[in-house]
Parts: sequence; C-alpha cells; structure tokens
Amino acid sequence: MRSISVFGATGSIGESTFDLLMRQGGPSAYRTIALSGGRNVARLAEQARALNAEIAITAFDDCLPALRDALAGSGVEAAAGAGALLEAADRPADWVMSGIVGAAGIAPGFRALANGGTLALANKESLVAAGALLMSTAARHGARILPVDSEHSAVFQSLLGEDIATVERIIITASGGAFRDWPLERLASATVAEASIHPNWAMGQRITIDSASMFNKALEVIETHEYFGISPSQIEVLVHPESLVHAIVGFRDGGMISHLGAPDMRHAIGYALNWPDRSHLPVARLDLAAIGRLTFCAPDETRYPALRLAREVMETGGLAGAAFNAAKECALDGFIAGQIGFLDMSGVVEDVLSKLQGELALGKDPESLDMVLAADQAARTSARAIISARGRI
Ligand code: NAD
Ligand code: MG
Repeated sequence: MRSISVFGATGSIGESTFDLLMRQGGPSAYRTIALSGGRNVARLAEQARALNAEIAITAFDDCLPALRDALAGSGVEAAAGAGALLEAADRPADWVMSGIVGAAGIAPGFRALANGGTLALANKESLVAAGALLMSTAARHGARILPVDSEHSAVFQSLLGEDIATVERIIITASGGAFRDWPLERLASATVAEASIHPNWAMGQRITIDSASMFNKALEVIETHEYFGISPSQIEVLVHPESLVHAIVGFRDGGMISHLGAPDMRHAIGYALNWPDRSHLPVARLDLAAIGRLTFCAPDETRYPALRLAREVMETGGLAGAAFNAAKECALDGFIAGQIGFLDMSGVVEDVLSKLQGELALGKDPESLDMVLAADQAARTSARAIISARGRI
C-alpha cells in the first residue's frame, strides 16, 4: 500500500487531492501519514478521519485545542505549528503533496525530499525561491519532484520520450486573469473582490489575484526555468483566454507538442498521483467542435510589469527569486488589506529588488535553505517599510 501525506490538505489543491484520493480507494488504497491545514480544523479533522491519517497538523498553535476536540476518539494524532509541520514532513511517505500556499510551504517540501519519495509540487514558491537547491536536494536523496501546476504538468507530458536538448522553446499559456479586458486606466482602482474572480479556474484567493496581476505567470516562468533547466530566453508567455491549451513545447525541427485539457487541477494532481501510469480521472472531456476556436495573443508587458520583473530575477539568479517571491507575498498582503492599490504591487516588488540588490548580494547562489529564508525575511522587512511609506502618500 502506498503511503501519502498532503500538506495544505484543506486548500484548493488539497481538496482536489483529497477528492482524488477518496475516489481512488481512500483508506483502503493509501496509508495516510500526515494531513495539514490552517484554521479550518473541522474540515481537516473530517479529512483525517476519512483517510484514517496518522497525524493532522494545523499551522496555527491557537487552533490546536479545537483540532484535538474535532479528532477526539478517532485515533488521529493532533499537532500544531511550523515545527510540527516539519516533523510530520520527516515521517517517510512514498508520495507527498506540497500544497501549502506561499513561502510557508518551502521548508516542509525540503524536509519531505530527505525521505527519497515523490514530491508532487504545487507550491511553486519552492522553485521560485530555491529552485537550484530544491532540485539538487532531490537528486542527492534520490527523490523525485513531479510538477503540479497545469502549465508545468503540460510541459512535462509534452516532453515524454523527448530529449530536452532538442527543445527550442517552451510556451506557457496565461488566461489573462480577471482584468484581461479592462482598460489600463481602470486597473488602478481595481478592488480585492474584483481581482478575486478568475474567468476559468477555481483556485485559492492568493493565486487568483496573482493571476489578475500576472505575478502568477511571472512565478511560473521562473518555475519553468528552474524545473526544466531551460534558459530564460527560451521561455515565452502566450495569452490564451480559453485556458484549454496549457503549454506548448517547440522543438528544433519546427514541430510543437502541446497538452490540452479542461481547466481542472485534478488533471495535473491525478497525473502526478498516478505517474507513471495514466489512470482514469473525473475531469470534463473537451468537445473541440463545440468549442469551435482557440485564441491566442501576446501579453502586453506595460499592462503586466510582473513579467519583465521575472526576466530580471532570472538574469540575477541566486537569491533574487526568494526576494521576488517574498516581496510579492507582502505586496499582495498590502493589496488585500487595502494599504496599496492593485497597480502598486509591482512597484513595491521592483523597489524591494533594487534596494536589496545594493544591500545583499542577490546574485549569490544559496548554499542552504537558511540562506534562502534569510533573503525571504530581508525582502519582507523591506517590503513592509516600502508599503507603509507608500500608504502614507
Ligand atoms: P489555498 O489558499 O486554497 O490553500 C492553502 C493551504 O495552505 C490551506 O490548506 C491552508 O490552510 C494552508 N496554509 C495557509 N497558510 C499556511 C501557513 N502559513 N502554514 C502552513 N499552511 C498554511 O491555496 P491553493 O490555491 O490551494 O494553492 C496552494 C499552492 O498551489 C500555491 O503555491 C499555489 O500557487 C499552487 N497552485 C495552486 C493552483 C490552484 O488551482 N489552486 C494551481 C497551481 C498551483
Ligand atoms: Mg499554473
């Protein structure tokens, strides 16, 4: 029986993972080691009971009593806090879903790699902040990382049986997010509620807002560079409003291989769960005749400065990704809290990068996760100061 753990089980990725685990036999097919969540302890306990998990961990210490109550009599151990998450990640499991949102998901993923299993990586922040270190850690422990971002799963599948040396370019698609059709002048006054609606995908609020600003695509360009080891100049972003073509790989003979599917993360999750098998998945089948046409256009970098920033981050390399991600997370917090406007987010990130470029050697390759997390903290301190200064203007 395969042993599994799911970090971020109560989120959008986590719920889709739970859905597939239950459909594929639940506790009779999987030995569940650990499930983690945040404040929604009732749901976490429900999942832990359904999968008969060894341990359930809430990220927040003050939620521990409620989690203990919800698990009473179940035999599932309850724990709380960042340290408990790391200890749970140390417990060997064959397959681990890294589905926590944000930099909080980085360290548990690193710890899980030490067991040499498979890390299904939805937490894109891990690759953005610490890509080279993550890939080398996996290699050192004989662990495997499978991408669980629709675009990266699509690239992975398009590359099956191909030699990466024959790849000329990788194109990842972008829906354009909530504001694709808005005039540029209107974006400055966009509200959190307006940015939290995605035209095609149902996802957590943070990644949905990142889709509207294209910070999500910026993270994904870096993720592509780090995971597939391809140079930044070979990575392109293509706006594709229908979100049915997830990525296209162009080869040196001029041919292109693409992956299409309904916008449902259970495809990428299920692919990573069943890999190398391709099992039946409960996702909608596309009726291309009914869809009729697929449309594409180039992204407008004046509308989406995040894409330009991603290129600068890849050029700098080293710790720049960690600073970029942390600054972006703080800018997003500032937007959600009403401290800064929608268009200010990219300005904050750019200011943090240029400030830290002078203070830290951002281009230096981190030798340890601690160095990555220190750059993350420095970027957060800087971003918060910049946000409160902007907020006073
Ligand atoms: P979400 O907000 O729906 O869920 C996040 C999960 O992480 C929840 O279980 C929450 O309790 C937990 N969490 C939040 N803060 C935490 C903290 N500080 N410490 C520990 N746990 C914490 O997010 P999501 O949309 O499921 O995204 C999860 C990850 O997957 C992100 O990195 C995102 O970029 C990536 N991703 C998501 C989608 C999607 O369709 N939702 C697609 C591709 C990639
Ligand atoms: Mg994606």
